[in-house]
Amino acid sequence: MAVPDHQGSQPPRDDMDHQVLLIADDPALATMIRGALVDATDFRLDVEWVRRLADGLERLRNEGTDAVLLDLFLPDGQGIETLDILHSAAPHLPILVVSDLNDEDLARQAIQRGAQDYLPISHIEERCLPRALRNAIERKAAEDTSMVERERTRVTLDSIGDAVLGVDVSGNVTYLNRVAERMTGWSREDASGHPLAEVFQTVDTTTHKPAHLPMKLDARSNETVGPPRKCVLLRRDGFLSAIEDFATPIHDRQGRLVGVTIVFHEVIDVRPTMLKMPHLAEHEFRTALPNPVLLNDRLGQAIARACCHGNQAAVLFLNLDRFTHVNDCLGRDIGDELLQSVAERLVSCVRDSDTVSRYGEDEFVVLLAQIERVEDVTVRAKKMLTALTMPHSIAGHTVHVTASVGISLYPRDGHDAETLVKSADIAMYSAKERGRNNYQFFKHDASTRAIEQRSLEGSLRGALERQEFVLHYQPKIDLRTGAITGAEALIRWQHPEQGLILPAQFIPIAEDCNLIVPMDQWAVYEACRQARAWRDADRPVPVAVNISAAELQDKCFFDDVRAILEDTRLEPRYLELELTESALMHSPDATAGVLDALNALGVQLAIDDFGTGYSSLSYLRKIPIDTLKIDQSFVRDITANPNDATVVSAVISLGHSLKRRVIAEGVETQEQLAFLQAERCREAQGYYFGRPMVAAKFAKLLETVSPGSGPN
Ligand code: C2E
Ligand code: MG
Ligand code: MG
Repeated sequence: MAVPDHQGSQPPRDDMDHQVLLIADDPALATMIRGALVDATDFRLDVEWVRRLADGLERLRNEGTDAVLLDLFLPDGQGIETLDILHSAAPHLPILVVSDLNDEDLARQAIQRGAQDYLPISHIEERCLPRALRNAIERKAAEDTSMVERERTRVTLDSIGDAVLGVDVSGNVTYLNRVAERMTGWSREDASGHPLAEVFQTVDTTTHKPAHLPMKLDARSNETVGPPRKCVLLRRDGFLSAIEDFATPIHDRQGRLVGVTIVFHEVIDVRPTMLKMPHLAEHEFRTALPNPVLLNDRLGQAIARACCHGNQAAVLFLNLDRFTHVNDCLGRDIGDELLQSVAERLVSCVRDSDTVSRYGEDEFVVLLAQIERVEDVTVRAKKMLTALTMPHSIAGHTVHVTASVGISLYPRDGHDAETLVKSADIAMYSAKERGRNNYQFFKHDASTRAIEQRSLEGSLRGALERQEFVLHYQPKIDLRTGAITGAEALIRWQHPEQGLILPAQFIPIAEDCNLIVPMDQWAVYEACRQARAWRDADRPVPVAVNISAAELQDKCFFDDVRAILEDTRLEPRYLELELTESALMHSPDATAGVLDALNALGVQLAIDDFGTGYSSLSYLRKIPIDTLKIDQSFVRDITANPNDATVVSAVISLGHSLKRRVIAEGVETQEQLAFLQAERCREAQGYYFGRPMVAAKFAKLLETVSPGSGPN
C-alpha cells in the first residue's frame, strides 16, 4: 500500500485540525479574526487569508478547506452577490459571513442564500467565532454522513430482489425501489403522493375483489400487519402477478406512526393458481365485469353470428352523469362501491347471452348479442336508465346517479367491433347534450357535431380566466300590465373561433369536468353587479340566475352568495335563484337548509322547468320557494295538445293555491299568450316578448317599457 506523501503542499492533518479560508480586504479584520482563533484549543483552526474574491475562488480549486469566512465587501465583489458567487463555486462548503455591519436584513438574506452564519464584528470580539466555525464544520460533517447513509440505503434498496414501497401516514406513496417500479408499472416520480390503493392495486385471489392491506393506516392507530399475505398485483398496464407481501410500520421518536414500508415479491409457484384464474385476465377487477379485451372478443363473435343468421346486434355505450362529482364529494371508496352497484343493476337488465363490460372510469359498454327488432333495444335502454335512477344505498349514504346512453346497431352503423363502439360513444355524446339521463341512437350527421363537442371540452378550461363568458338578459313580463317584472340572466360563451355558443352545448361538459361551480359563481357575481348598476341608474329590476345542482350542493354556496351580495352592495331581494326540480330533489334534506338560509337573507327562489321533474307536493310546501316556472315544453303545445294545456292549467292553480308566483316560459305566439291570460297566469317569458339580449340592449328596453313595481 502506498504511504501518503506529506511533504507536498498539503500538511498532515488530524481530525481536530481544520483549515479556514478568510476572504476579507480589511487587514484589521483579518488580525482580529486570527486573534480570535488562536485560543481555540481542542479544535485547531488554521487561517489562510486572501483579500480578493478571485483569489479565494482560486484557492478553493484545491481541496483542504473546511470552512470559509467571507466579508461581503471586497475589491472585486460587493454585497450579497459575493456570497452567491462563492456559494455556487463551493456549494458543499460551510460559509460564514463576517461583517462590520450589524444588519438584520442582510443577515437574513445571507442565511436564505446558503450562508451557515452571519457574524457581526461584535460577535467576533466576544469570541463567539471559534464556536460558530466549529458548529458549522461539524454540522456539515453530519450532513455528509447522513447523505452517504441515504445513498447507501438507496443503492441497497435498488439492488435487492424484493420490491419496497413506502407510504406516509395519510396513505400516500412516498417511495418505490426499482423492483417496485417494475412490478407496479409506476415510476417513483409518478407514484409519489398518489394514494396507495391506486399504485398498489391488489386483488384477493378467492373473491376477485380488491384486497386491502390488513392494517389501519391512520394517525390514531399503530396497528400493523399479520403474516405475509398472498394476493394478485395488478400492474398499471393491466398485467397480473401473484405476490406475497407484508408491511412494517415506521414510528418517530415519540412512537407515533409516521408511515409504513411494504415489502413484496412475486411468488413463482403460485403462477399455476393464477393461470387457473383466466377470469382475472379478462375481467375488470373492481366490478368483476368483462374488460374491453373480452368485450372485443364477444363482440367479434356476435358480429359473426349475426352475419350468418342475418340478425342485428346492438352496442350501448353508457357514461355515468357527473360521476366525478360523486368521487369528489363522497370519496373514491364510495365512488368504487357505486360502480359496483351500477354494474350489478346493469347485469340484472340483460340476458345471459349479453355482455356488460366496464370500459373506462365511469363508462360501461353493453352488447346485446341478438336482437329481433330495434324496439327491443329501446326497451332495454329504458330499463337500464330506470334501474340506475333508483337510489343506491352505499355505506350509509343514499347516492343518486343517472347515465347517458349512446346506441349503435350492427350492421346499420358499423361492421366491426371498433366502429360499433365508436359510433355508440358518439351517440352517447348526443345523449349528454340532450340533458343526460336519456338514450340516443347513432346518427351519421350527428357525428361531426359530437366530435366538435369533444374538442370544446379542451377550450372550455381556461374560458373563465380568458373572460369569454357573457350574460344575456331576457325580460319577464306582467301579463296584466305589460311591465317588466324581472330579467333572467342566461350565460353564453363567446368562443374565439366558433362565435357565440349556447349553454346547452357547454354546460353538460362544464358539469362533467367540474367547471360548473366556478362558472355559476361567476354568473351570480356578474348578474348582481349588473342588477346593482341598473339600480344605481334608477332602473331597478330583479335579476334571476340559473344554479346548477353541483353549485346548489356546494358547501360554500350560501356563504358565496352572501359574500357576492355584500361585495356588489345589492339588496338580496333583487336576486332570484332558479333551481331545477331535479337539482332540488337530488338531496332534498340537505338542500332545504340552504334554501331556508337564502330565504331568510331575502333572496328570491324559483323552481325552473317545473313539471319535468318529480317534486312532491309535500316537499314543495316545506321549502320557501317564491316562484314556479312552467317548463316551455308544456307551453309550446298548449293550444294543440290538451294534455299540455291541462298540465299548464294545473300548475297555474297549484301556484295560486300555494300562494306562489307562476311564470310561463317559452311563450312565442299570441295564441299561447291568450290561453295563459284566460287561465289567469300572471307572468310570462318568451320570444314573443323579447329574446335574451346583451345588457346594454336590456337597459334600453327598461327605458321604453315601464319597469314593474319590482319585488315587494
Ligand atoms: P332555462 O333556465 O329554462 O332558460 C330558458 C331557456 O329558454 C333559455 O335558453 C332561453 O333562451 C330559452 N327561451 C326563452 N324564451 C324562449 C322561447 O320563446 N322559445 C324557445 N324555444 N326558447 C326560449 P338558453 O339561454 O339556451 O339556456 C338554456 C338553459 O341553460 C337554461 O334553461 C338554463 O337551464 C341553462 N343556463 C343558462 N344560463 C345558465 C347559467 O348561468 N348557469 C347554469 N347553471 N345554467 C344556465
Ligand atoms: Mg332558468
Ligand atoms: Mg326553464
